[in-house]
Amino acid sequence: MGLLIIALVTVILLFARRFWAWARRKPLPQIAVRPGTKGFVNGLGKVKAPARVTPVLTAVEVDEWRCAAEAAERQGIEAGLEPDCEVLVVGAGPSGLMTAVLLARQGVKVRVIDKNAGPATESRAFAVQARTVELFRNIGLADELMGRGVVTTEIKFHIKGKPVGGLDFDRARAATTPYQFILMAPQAEIEDVLLRDLERQGVTVERGTRLVSLSQTDKQVVATVRQNDRERVISARYVVGADGSRSTVREQLGLAFEGDSYTQRYLLADCQVDWPFDHSHFRIFANGRRIGLFLPLKGSDVSRVMVTDLTTGDGPVDLGELQEELRVAMNVPVTLTSPVWTSRYQVHIRKVDDYRSGRVFLVGDTAHIHSPAGGQGMNTGLHDAANLAWKLAAVQRTGAAPALLDSYDQERYPIGVQVLRFSNRLYKLSAGLRGWRAWVRDTFGPFMIGRVTAAPLPHRKAFHRLSQIGIAYEPSRYNVNELLYSLKGPLAGHRAPDARINAGRQMFDLLRGYRLHVVALSRKHLTEAEITELTAQLNSIKAFGGNVATHLVGRVECRRDDRVEHVDSPQVFEHYGLTDPESQALYVIRPDGHVAWRMDTLDFESCRRFLVRLHGGIAACEEYRLAAVA
Ligand SMILES: Cc1cc2nc3c(=O)[nH]c(=O)nc-3n(C[C@H](O)[C@H](O)[C@H](O)COP(=O)(O)OP(=O)(O)OC[C@H]3O[C@@H](n4cnc5c(N)ncnc54)[C@H](O)[C@@H]3O)c2cc1C
Repeated sequence: MGLLIIALVTVILLFARRFWAWARRKPLPQIAVRPGTKGFVNGLGKVKAPARVTPVLTAVEVDEWRCAAEAAERQGIEAGLEPDCEVLVVGAGPSGLMTAVLLARQGVKVRVIDKNAGPATESRAFAVQARTVELFRNIGLADELMGRGVVTTEIKFHIKGKPVGGLDFDRARAATTPYQFILMAPQAEIEDVLLRDLERQGVTVERGTRLVSLSQTDKQVVATVRQNDRERVISARYVVGADGSRSTVREQLGLAFEGDSYTQRYLLADCQVDWPFDHSHFRIFANGRRIGLFLPLKGSDVSRVMVTDLTTGDGPVDLGELQEELRVAMNVPVTLTSPVWTSRYQVHIRKVDDYRSGRVFLVGDTAHIHSPAGGQGMNTGLHDAANLAWKLAAVQRTGAAPALLDSYDQERYPIGVQVLRFSNRLYKLSAGLRGWRAWVRDTFGPFMIGRVTAAPLPHRKAFHRLSQIGIAYEPSRYNVNELLYSLKGPLAGHRAPDARINAGRQMFDLLRGYRLHVVALSRKHLTEAEITELTAQLNSIKAFGGNVATHLVGRVECRRDDRVEHVDSPQVFEHYGLTDPESQALYVIRPDGHVAWRMDTLDFESCRRFLVRLHGGIAACEEYRLAAVA
């Protein structure tokens, strides 16, 4: 009887899943039956894939690639008419700096301007999420970043001063990231890490240079800038607008920044805090209409405090006034001294409808702003940059089709909307409560929060959401599941997870350098002859053009072989969906750490064809054109 119920529930769940996918118009990826296995499970949610046809280039694709190759050639011929730079980045906040760092690392000629005379000293953002630390690790800056902040694994809630539970990320069981925490690091420090790296790449931010106007043709963008009361012109093939919420770039493009402003304002200070609690935990205090926040920054020397602004003033923040408001919100004695930065601010929620207009792209706060609840804003801007920079380089360097650039808006716009909704919900649930809603929270909250956070699931879910490790892009012509035998492991568009390969090697150690990676995985033990064959195939991909790194990760029949990353733990197979003892898979992983292409067998020909589509590979175009025509 028990078995029957389990079987029934399984069938219902599988059908519910398919119905849900159908209702959202997001069909489940097709799974093929692995050769040699019986196909009973096909009916239960798995769809039998049609016999796979080796992808042949369509006439349209061939033409696109030929055009891209010709355009790249033309660019070379027209070198005499070169614009001043390939990419002009407007704004040296975190989003602009990250864009410039990633472009410069790929050899793109980039210039960065900022209207301010020097780097920002005040620090708005403070929460660096796991996905962002992963991005810094990808470019070798994680250690430097970690040295600038404090690791926080808990968010503690207090109602009317009393601790009522909280989130504990040690209970999140997030084995796919090495960074199971929030790094509390001031925005100014993050900008400094990026700025130093940019200087190491030979790019200096042109300070005191304000963008005044922008015009574009189908070949280039011309920016008029003002520096020391003199106007001059900078021409660029592309412009990235990273000039924040009051963006001139956005205004020049005539893009609406639609949304609203919350009525509530906040008081904020980075200062020394004397109080009965420690200085190492993130704490949120609720008391009636007031919300108070304590965020660790630099031990007991400097902490960030924030509180609902119920004062009527508009001028500079009075620290004494802030302290009084905080005492009421926290219901504990608090003394604030030595302020480094104070501010009074109002929260807005706005977005543009298009992250691209011709040759101009918008990243970060220029494209989306929202409440600081959840600490997502700066992180989202940094990942906009990571999504865009390799595409700009691929189009200019390796002859990728310009259509690749459209995928920036297609991928990042929905993420921007998701983040806006998420932070709005968090804000309304925590800071936005007033009247009877606040009373209900204060009365029943202690009981509810304690009960809910006793289970592990809320900790896991909260970490997954806040850390941004769950962000995935939809399948498209650039995110392709070529052949799947299992739905386990990351699908195309999903983030490539970390995993242990052996005692000295993690998957993230391989996926470094902000470049394309082709990873061949074999759970099946490889013979020496197979290793030789696979290495030759991978080398042919390396010689294929573009900045592609290749890796062979697996188990071997023979003695240790330096050509293979030896696997001593099943984790890498579990995390990459190699469920069967004989399974093998080939992954193309993008520079921003998302899977671009997956095939649950080692078919290098298909991989090469996909790489041509993704990043061009000018040399390959002619060869494939001839093959397709024949
Ligand atoms: C109180 C507060 C707390 C926050 N906390 C968090 C948090 O914990 N985590 C998080 O992820 N986010 C947080 N945020 C949001 C975060 O600060 C922003 O999302 C982030 O600064 C956006 O970076 P950006 O580079 O897109 O824009 P900005 O940081 O605004 O940078 C824009 C740059 O462009 C320059 N510029 C502007 N106009 C021009 C022009 N015409 N010409 C040339 N240069 C120009 C400016 O000088 C500036 O340097 C918080 C925000 C606030 C207000």
